[in-house]
Amino acid sequence: MELKDDVYSIQGIPVQEIASQFGTPVYVYDADKIVSQINHLKEAFTGLPLKIKYAVKSLTNMSILKLMRQNGTEVDAVSIQEVQLAMLAGYSAEEILFTPNSVSFAEIQEAVEFGCVINIDNISILEQFGHTYGNSKSCCIRLNPHIMAGGNHKISTGHIDSKFGISVYQLRHILRVVKTYNMDISGLHVHTGSDILDPEVFLQGADIIFESAMEFQDLRFIDFGSGFKVKYKENDNTTDLIELGQRLGGAFKKFCAEYGRELEIWFEPGKYLVSEAGYFLVSANVIKTTPATVFVGVNSGMNHLIRPMMYDAYHEIFNVSNPRGTQRLYSVVGYICETDTFGWDRPMSEVREGDVLAIKNAGAYGISMASNYNSRFRPAEVLVHNGQAKLIRKRETMEDLLRNQVEVEL
Ligand SMILES: *Cc1c(COP(=O)(O)O)cnc(C)c1O
Repeated sequence: MELKDDVYSIQGIPVQEIASQFGTPVYVYDADKIVSQINHLKEAFTGLPLKIKYAVKSLTNMSILKLMRQNGTEVDAVSIQEVQLAMLAGYSAEEILFTPNSVSFAEIQEAVEFGCVINIDNISILEQFGHTYGNSKSCCIRLNPHIMAGGNHKISTGHIDSKFGISVYQLRHILRVVKTYNMDISGLHVHTGSDILDPEVFLQGADIIFESAMEFQDLRFIDFGSGFKVKYKENDNTTDLIELGQRLGGAFKKFCAEYGRELEIWFEPGKYLVSEAGYFLVSANVIKTTPATVFVGVNSGMNHLIRPMMYDAYHEIFNVSNPRGTQRLYSVVGYICETDTFGWDRPMSEVREGDVLAIKNAGAYGISMASNYNSRFRPAEVLVHNGQAKLIRKRETMEDLLRNQVEVEL
């Protein structure tokens, strides 16, 4: 979004116009920003056989999936429904990595039957997979290297508690299972967490993976997961992808030379690709001055964007309708009967009832985590693509709330 001549716009379309045309609350995505993020990641790893597996759980709208596909990304799915959505968007099953946790073996079998690449994060499932398929189907193994994401220390009791991945300390056990069933392990995977600023963390994870990889004869790829930190505030640092590309890329090439084969390098970003492309537009319903603060009550809440309440995530908020107004402090809250605060004591241009506010970083885990709590409709979604604002999901209606309810005789 840019501010020019006192008007906020996306690809030249005034944001205020988008809000009037489609109503609020509405999620708006800038396709150009998504494409530039994809390209930036590709540039950082040029010269390597890179695959970007978009973590669709962050934003699953079909039009976004199609945009991703047009721009050469593949898919990381965590449920069989995400697998099916990706296929409906035109992806072939071979392009989909299925990385579930705690799902039944039956769900994994469904994905195998489609032809997805299966990522296994549990020894019990690995055994069932080996027992069922032997070496007739390959799979990837998700390792937990016990790295503290964001910190510099390997191995902490905190991370040893993680439910994700198979501990690297169980490598011997993994290898026994692989040998017993003569399994074909096509890849190793590590996903250390989110908002990792320091390339060093990726490199530490990589070292552990490379060491483990030497134990597997026939790998085709290594998947370094995700966790690139994106910008939430003006002066935020972000993962330096160029530095990461040089250092991790260099280490990867060296590893491949030792391994004796050129492997593919995979990543599975969600947030990195879509977070900054999304804006959540809401309207100021009421202004309320209290002894503590000035509240702006908006026509949305934790039912539409839960990250501030659930993860204490910081989402910048600004007043689209009054770009040059006097700066004041506001606490922006939702209309849900809970304490649903989007932001406390935020500097903003003076807010008047009816003004449109934009909440930033709303592309990832916004609508995909939205609910109908308080019996509110989930918002519409709009994609700005080639200079046009297009509706890509209708606002819900009363029918949607009632669709699956069964009224019985009482
Ligand atoms: C959620 C998830 C991702 C994406 O994480 P982001 O922080 O959105 O980039 C990638 N891989 C796996 C296995 C995940 O569960």
